[in-house]
Parts: sequence; structure tokens; C-alpha cells
Amino acid sequence: MLIYFEPFTFPFVVGSLFMFAVIALKWSLWLLRLPRVDRVKIRRGLFTRQTLLGAWEVVRESLLHVRIFRTNPLLGYMHASLAFGWFLLIVVGWVETAVYLGIKPIPLQGHVFFKYFAPYLNLDAHYPIFEHVMDALLLVVLVGVGLALFKRLRSSVMGMRRTTKHVLFDRVALTALWFIFPARLVAESLTVAVHGGGGFLTGTLGTFLAKHLPYEVIEMLYPQSWWFYSAVLGIFFVALPFSRYMHILTEIPLIFLRRWSLRPTKERKSYDNFEVEACSRCGICIDPCQLQADLGINDTQSVYYLRDRRYNMLSMKIANNCLMCGRCEVACPVGINLNTLRLNSRAKRRNIPNEGRYRYLKGIDPSSGAGRVGYFAGCMTSLTPAVQRSMERIFAAARVDVWYADREGGVCCGRPLMLSGETDAAHKMVECNRALFRKHEIETLVTSCPICLKVFREEYNLEGIEVLHHTEYIARLISSGEITLARDTCIYTYHDPCELGRGCGIYDAPRTVISAVGTLVEPAHNRRNALCCGGSLANTVINDGQQYRIAERMTAELEATQCDTIVTACPLCNKSIARASHRPTHDIAEIVAKNIL
Ligand code: SF4
Ligand code: SF4
Repeated sequence: MLIYFEPFTFPFVVGSLFMFAVIALKWSLWLLRLPRVDRVKIRRGLFTRQTLLGAWEVVRESLLHVRIFRTNPLLGYMHASLAFGWFLLIVVGWVETAVYLGIKPIPLQGHVFFKYFAPYLNLDAHYPIFEHVMDALLLVVLVGVGLALFKRLRSSVMGMRRTTKHVLFDRVALTALWFIFPARLVAESLTVAVHGGGGFLTGTLGTFLAKHLPYEVIEMLYPQSWWFYSAVLGIFFVALPFSRYMHILTEIPLIFLRRWSLRPTKERKSYDNFEVEACSRCGICIDPCQLQADLGINDTQSVYYLRDRRYNMLSMKIANNCLMCGRCEVACPVGINLNTLRLNSRAKRRNIPNEGRYRYLKGIDPSSGAGRVGYFAGCMTSLTPAVQRSMERIFAAARVDVWYADREGGVCCGRPLMLSGETDAAHKMVECNRALFRKHEIETLVTSCPICLKVFREEYNLEGIEVLHHTEYIARLISSGEITLARDTCIYTYHDPCELGRGCGIYDAPRTVISAVGTLVEPAHNRRNALCCGGSLANTVINDGQQYRIAERMTAELEATQCDTIVTACPLCNKSIARASHRPTHDIAEIVAKNIL
């Protein structure tokens, strides 16, 4: 047993013990700080099918990186070769020691440095298959390391416009990682040069070294190379919990927590840690960001936001410089809830409880109207009165009994305040509106604003009230025959608003409605990949000119379809597109109202 405690193994042993201790401490703190309701969810989920599905997801995503592979095969190979290749090296290494030494307790370093110890263990048998398999795995990982190096030098060849910027711990860990596998190759090859054996890789290199280097040099380098290998492993393990590589181990619990129904919310600050540290800094979220593509802003994308938040160096400028368009969120292979995390950061810094500011809400309900359907146009729709007028026409044509919430006491849905982090003020507005909806006993709430829709569905807890966007409601009126439309010869293209599409998953209803009145042509980016109009209320950093530039570029893509008319389903998008467009731009409600028979 003493043989395994050679001094050269100490850096590895100390580094790995330190890493496991820090990770255990971090996870314990994060889990203990979860609210009780989440701990109950974990207990309930532990022995269910979700745990097995979680284990399978760990293999697919944490080891094989299937989602990254689908987005960018070269990047996927790089991540998979390092993660899965290294994992297999460990597993096959353990099997090898078990086959040679039998199943008995061996210290960790006995497995990791088995190639060093093997010549001194007086082994009876020799299984060359292990040497070839281990060499093949080492080669796979070395190719991955080569790609990682290449990515840093020429990210565009790897299909990425930019690579990510690192902080000190990342650089230390990254440099150590680059050396680990070449160091292993050299150490094992020098061992072959001294003792013989080796697979197709280490055997060939070892024989070459034995032939071309003086024996005294090999004898001197041989122990040094194992020291070096152990040292870079130790450095990597010490740096890992404080670097981006913490994602390797944090994605695993995150997958299980998600499977057990935990999600980040403003109440679950501790859960945020799992999401923040699960970011692999793959950089996939950089290219979809229009702030980068259209405005050349290179410090605010989700990868940088998460990095800054993790190292407690997040500025409000970075937290606020985001359209919350969700384009990066749908691209993120780890499935991190990026918008919620950014909202939580804003709430932490901006929320100012002050009861005096909400007194006016108390006397705001003079209304007495009632209706089966409540229509909440939304603040932005009030600034585009043609949409409201069109909805009135549609309701009248369908003979629907409507209560107009905005005219009769309704206040802003609260989303702009939530986006800016003023959660207390937003909560007051939510309470005021909810009380109004209940008082007027509506059964269906229709809104023309996707921002309102999202917040009604997610924040209002309107049990018993069906909440619909007007595109869904109009599609229903058409299919039930409550309104009949004339078809025209117009060619329409449709812009998917961020909050309606990526935010609420509504893609088909608008298309059904447009196809009922004319011909629909799709722009290059649509549905989940639709571009943002740039007019988002969520970004309080960019100026009007920058917003216009984003709108101009996305509008050019809509116009490239050679459509006659641009259609959208969000008053904010409507405004942004209309001022950048050379073609008529309308809300869906307007083209429906125009074509009602
Ligand atoms: S946020 Fe997602 S896409 Fe962006 S770097 Fe992190 S893991 Fe990759
Ligand atoms: S949400 Fe949109 S604007 Fe914000 S970082 Fe992601 S892609 Fe960029």
C-alpha cells in the first residue's frame, strides 16, 4: 500500500481533496438555503421516474453534450471529447486496476497513476488491450484539447463569431487543462521508454524516445514528467471550483433539480447558484444576441452577465443592457433560465419598497360595467389606438359582451416595473388588476399585448379565468364561425414578437389568422429564432438610435420576403417596425377588422 504514497502524487491528492471539499461545501450551502417547499419537492422527486430520466440526461448533456453538438458539431465534439473522453479514461483505468490487482481498496492515486506503479507491482499477467484502449481514449481527448486551443486562436473557424473572455481563475484552470493530457502522454511514453510495453500511441512514442534520447536523459525526465502531470492535475483541481469548469459538476445536480420541478424565481435566490455555475461558457449565446450583431456591444451577453454575477462584479449597466428577447435562452444548451436570472439581479439592486407611491391605486376603480369577456388592451396598445378600434370592431361583429378593463380602472400589468427590478411596485399593480378582474366576474381575459399576456399567465394566479392573446381569441372566433373574413390578394409576412413566441409559445394562432385573410410568407428568422424588434422595454441602457438600428436590420429581413404588408401581434413591435419599414405595417387585429364580412 505504501508504494502508492510516492511524493510526486501529493499535488494530485491535495488538489482533488481540496476540490471535493469545496464543492461539497458549496452544494450543501445552496441546498440548505432552498425554501422548505423546494426541499419537499426534492424528497418527493427522489424516488420517481424523473430521477432515472435525469440520469439519462446527465449522460446525454453533461458527458456527450448532444445539444451543443446539434448547434455546432465541432464545438460539440470538443466538449464531448474532453468530458466523455476523460470520464472513460477514469472508468477504463479503474477496470484495468481491478483486472490486474483484483477488487480491493486502492487509494485514488493508485488508479490515476497506475501506469507509473505497474512496473513495480510484480504483476503476473499482461493485458495489452487496456493499453490500446487507454491510448485510443487519450487520443480522443488530445484532439479535443487541440480544438480548444484552436478555438481560442481562431473562433470563427469553429463557427463562432467570438470566443469568451476569461478571468484569472479561468485562465489558471484552462492553462492547467491544456497541459494535463499532453503531460500524461509524455509521462506514459517515458515510462514505456524505461520499462517497455505501451499501446499504439504511448508505445510508439516511448520506443521513439528510447531510440533518439540518451538513456540518462530519459532516466532524468521520467520521474519529472510524473511530477509535472500530478502538479497540473492538482492545479486544475484547486482552480476548478472557482472557475468556469465548475460547470462540469454543477450541471449534474441542476439537471436533477429541474427534473424534480425546481425553477428559478425571485423567491429562490439559492437555486440561482446552480444555474449561474452550470454555465459552461460555451459562448453559444453570443452569436444570437442582436446587441452584439447589430450594435457591436460585446460585454453584456448572457455568458458575460453570468460570469460577472458569479464573481460578484456585476454592474447594473450589464444587468440592464439586455432586451430580454430570449434569443440566447432558446440557444443555451444547458437550458439556463437567463431572463429570470437577469430579472432577479435587477430586483436585488432596484427594488425600493415605499407604500406612499401606491396610494393612488386605491381610488382607481370607478367602473361598474360587466362582461363575459374582459379586454385588456395594455399600455402600449393604448398608444396604438388603431389596434383597440379594430378589436372593438371584432368584438362587435362577434356580438361579444365585453368589459373594457383599460377604460374602467385597469392599470398597467406591472411588467415594465418587474423588468426594471421594482418588484414591490409591480406587486401592487398586480393586486389592483386582479381585484378588478374578480369584481367584474369575467370568464375570459383577452389582451393585445404579449407582455401583458405573459405576466397575466405567470404572475397573476387568475384561477378560473382563461387568459388569451388576441391572436388566439380571433383564431377561435374564426374557427367557431362567429366572424367571417374575406380573403384578399395581399402577401403578408409575419414577425413573431419575442414575448408572444419565445415567451408564451404562441406561433400557430397568428399564422392561422393571417392565412384566413391572405397569403403568408415567412422571413429568414421566424418562430423560436425570430429576431427582436429592438423596442424592448427591458433594455434601459441602449438609446433610441441604437434601438432604431436593431429595428432597421430586422425589418430589412421582413421586407426581403417581397411581402406587400408586414404583420405583427405586439403593439411595441408594431411601432418599432413601422418607423423602420418602407411597407405598410399592421397588427393582426387591424387586418382582421378590415376583412370582416
Ligand atoms: S449561458 Fe448557456 S449558451 Fe451562454 S455560455 Fe452559458 S451555457 Fe453557453
Ligand atoms: S436576451 Fe436577447 S438581448 Fe439579452 S443577452 Fe440574450 S440575446 Fe442578448
